[in-house]
Formats: sequence, structure tokens, C-alpha cells
Amino acid sequence: MTSRQIIFVALGGAQAVGASCYFLKLGDNNLLLDCGYGSTRGIRFAPKFSALLATPYLQDFHQVSHVVISHAHLDHAAALPDFLELNERAAVYMTDLTREILFAQLEERFTRLEENISSVAFLQKIPLPRLKISFHQAGHIPGAMMTLINFRGKNILYTGDYSTFSTQLVGAALLPDVPIDILILCGLHARHPNYHRYGDSDAALKKILHKIYYALRHRKSVYCQVTQISKGVELITLINKFLPQAELFIDERVMGIVRRFENLHIPIMREQNHPLNVLPRAPCVILSTMPPPVHSGLEIINGDFSLHDDFAATVEFVRRINPKTCVVVHSPPDKFFHTGTTLEQVLINDPDSRTSFIFPETGEPFEL
Ligand SMILES: [Zn+2]
Ligand SMILES: [Zn+2]
Repeated sequence: MTSRQIIFVALGGAQAVGASCYFLKLGDNNLLLDCGYGSTRGIRFAPKFSALLATPYLQDFHQVSHVVISHAHLDHAAALPDFLELNERAAVYMTDLTREILFAQLEERFTRLEENISSVAFLQKIPLPRLKISFHQAGHIPGAMMTLINFRGKNILYTGDYSTFSTQLVGAALLPDVPIDILILCGLHARHPNYHRYGDSDAALKKILHKIYYALRHRKSVYCQVTQISKGVELITLINKFLPQAELFIDERVMGIVRRFENLHIPIMREQNHPLNVLPRAPCVILSTMPPPVHSGLEIINGDFSLHDDFAATVEFVRRINPKTCVVVHSPPDKFFHTGTTLEQVLINDPDSRTSFIFPETGEPFEL
């Protein structure tokens, strides 16, 4: 085996969302990109770490020296304690904000890991033997970063989840100013040609705001259930901005993250925002991660929305970077349409594109 070899194995989150964890071997360096949980029908699962030991590329988990956590969503970070049980020496990199948001979600399981974690800042460079690693703003959620690795003259960019649009809380992704040879793309909508965002904001977010507006106008209270607690913070900011008169009650789990943001001097709360510990009087908005109470008479709203680029933006992103190789992960097939059109099929017809695509399955090794 030569030490120039670049090997990629997805251990989870390959052609699916959940348990994102990607092994990257760069010569003698072994890294993990993300380490998250997945869940099917409420049952949680970790990445298939053991798949690595079935390859010729790793004999012992202690050979993995570094883990990079792109952002604080649980599908990218929540299995970190599981991996550190296999390798208590691994150094873990993440931004301060990612660490704060993660600690707010996984407090007890994370406090033991404190000593493994090094905070990194955007544009900070970390020199390792024969590797240079730097981090870049990814958009998506506060603290999210892209990871750029330079190995023997090749530039490898791992996007993590990213957005090329700005959200209520964070600016758009800022790409590093170097040519990229290998792009490891978290392409949530790379196989969803019918998924479009409209203008600068998600249609689902506009719908949520409209529903809240009309319910409050009819003097009804609204119960808005969010699927991820960081999305709760996004909604608070949005409601405060567009419906400033609304009385907003926030559940304890979302409040946990709000406090972490405020500790880092990112103000979220306003006068009309309250922790949800008393039963509020109508009309108001209740923001919660819990399922709504039955027969409550509340207007129930699904508070889910997307913080990802749509299909067209994903195509444009890869076209602009024009890598030699694009490894597409975090990329579930289209549930509703079976047109079969993918990012790859669009760019194959583009004479300026030089990209060849890999859609890896879990456990399948690729030499890049
Ligand atoms: Zn995410
Ligand atoms: Zn994700």
C-alpha cells in the first residue's frame, strides 16, 4: 500500500439521512468526518464502525486520529460518544457554537468527552503530518463548517450540511478560494429534481408564518412542533421578526439552546418570549419539540422546514466547484417521484463539467 492512497468509506448516511459518518484514509492518516445517529421508526442506530475492520484499511479504531464534526445536528454528531468508547484518544474538532448547541442537546453524554474536543474557528488551519486542514463557513445552521483538506497537492472538500443561501441565523456558505479535486457532498436534494425553494426563503417557512398569523388573527393559540431543537431557534427569530406582537412560549429543550446562544452573545429572546412553564393564555404561539396535546383546541402546525439547498442550487454548486470527483452522500432517493433524474445526469450533459460522480453505499470502500 502506498502512502499516497486516498480511501473513502461511508459508515452511515450514504444514500440516506441519518448516522452520517465518513472514513477518509489519506496515506497513513485516518480521519472520520462526522459521527451521527440515525433513526428508523423511533429506533436509534449508530454508524457501522465495524465495517471498517472488515476492510484492509484499518485494524484497530485507535488508528483513527481525528474526528471532524461539521455541525450540531444529531445525524452528524450524536454518535460521537459511541466512537470515543472505541477510541478514547481521538481528537475531535468542531466550532465553539457546534459544541454549545451539542452540549445543550446531549449534556450528560457529552460532559465526559470535553477533553477530546478542540474548538476550531473558521479559516483556522491545523497542520498534521502531510495534511493541512482548514474550516470554512457552511451556512445551514450556526457553527456549521466545511472542512478543506490538502493532501499531497490535492484539495478535498467535505461540505457537511450546507446552504448557499443565508438563513435567519447564519450567512451563506463561503467557499475556500482553491480548486477542489475531490468534493464530498452532503447532497440532500441531489436526487430530488422536483424539490424547489422559492426566492430567498423556504416555502414551508412562509407557510408556517402565514398559518400562525391567521390563527392569531382569529384569536386562536397555535401549537408549533419542531423536529430539531435548533430549528426552534430559527423559528423564534423568524416569528420575532415578522410577527413581533405575538406572545411566544418556548419549551425547555429549545430554551436550553437559546441560553447557549445568548451565552455566546447571540441575542435571541425578546420581551414577548417566555419559557413554557405556565399554561399560557390565548392567543399565543407555543413552540415545542414534544407532540401536541390531544383535544387541546389549539391550532396545530408542523414546524418543519428545510435548511438545505434545493436540486437546482445543488447542481449549480457542483458546477461552480467543478471537482474531478464528487462523492455524493446524505442523499436519499426521491420518495414521491421516480423520474430518476439526479445531479449526475444533469452535469453529464454539461460540456464544461469535468466531474465524475460516486454515490457510495454504506461499507463500500472507494479509492479516490
Ligand atoms: Zn444538518
Ligand atoms: Zn444532515
